[in-house]
Amino acid sequence: MDNFIKSMKCPHCQENFSGDVSFEDLEKDKDGIWWLEKMRCSKSECDRLILILCCSNLKILLNSVDNVCQERKDRIVEFLQEQEDVNPDFVDDRNQYDYDEESLTGLEEYRKKIRNEIRQEGIVNIRYSNSGLLKAILGKSEANRVLVHPKANRRYVPSEVPKDIAEDFKKACLILSDCPEGSAAMSRRCLQHIIHDYFEINHGNLYKEIEDVLEGGQIPSHLSDLLNMLRKIGNYSAHPIKSEITGQIVPVEENEAEFCLDVIEGLFDFCYVLPMQNAKRLQAYGKKF
Ligand SMILES: [Zn+2]
Repeated sequence: MDNFIKSMKCPHCQENFSGDVSFEDLEKDKDGIWWLEKMRCSKSECDRLILILCCSNLKILLNSVDNVCQERKDRIVEFLQEQEDVNPDFVDDRNQYDYDEESLTGLEEYRKKIRNEIRQEGIVNIRYSNSGLLKAILGKSEANRVLVHPKANRRYVPSEVPKDIAEDFKKACLILSDCPEGSAAMSRRCLQHIIHDYFEINHGNLYKEIEDVLEGGQIPSHLSDLLNMLRKIGNYSAHPIKSEITGQIVPVEENEAEFCLDVIEGLFDFCYVLPMQNAKRLQAYGKKF
């Protein structure tokens, strides 16, 4: 089994961690080679498995260098197809490995290296330097990794949050990786809902409503900074649809959808969790004094 270390944000606990990645080969079909990527969150309080289903349609480009005879090229392509389930096609060049094209010695080692490179980098370049005639490059198609466990980046929704707001938030989390535009639309609706519900600001335009929240000075600076940043990243002022029809699906900036969820989480604490905790404290002390 090939292993390497990877840093990532845990989809369970949302903490950053580094850990060993291991792979389990599944089967191949006409869509490519399938394998399961496994990691375990190294945060002791989390310690959960993260499973990513991967599919790769490996492709090779034989960069013909002048005098390569077609026969030899065909032989290598054929050979690599058998070995790595690759289709002659496409490219990039990054890492180079040499091996003896004639005898094909050391190939197992190369295959191992190649597999690792593909898994880590997505792209590999093999050079058949013995003859100095031929260059082959392996690449893989993008967007073929699906988080299967947990099903989505899970975020904890405190029980104090009103049910309909919590539901929108959970849905936004669930579709984040598959459809960030949909997630952001759901988040904007959720955000607007909080502003209507908690701040009692309601004139139907999210951009202006956020402005009112900021001007109202009710929220702590760390939250107003986040809200302000969200308005900028999402460019709400230039997107009337985002402001006026908050649930509408429109293209989003990179990371906008995820950032929107972060902002809402901050608001959950401030608007629902803390007031409830304080109310409970007051009630408890009220009995004593
Ligand atoms: Zn974790």
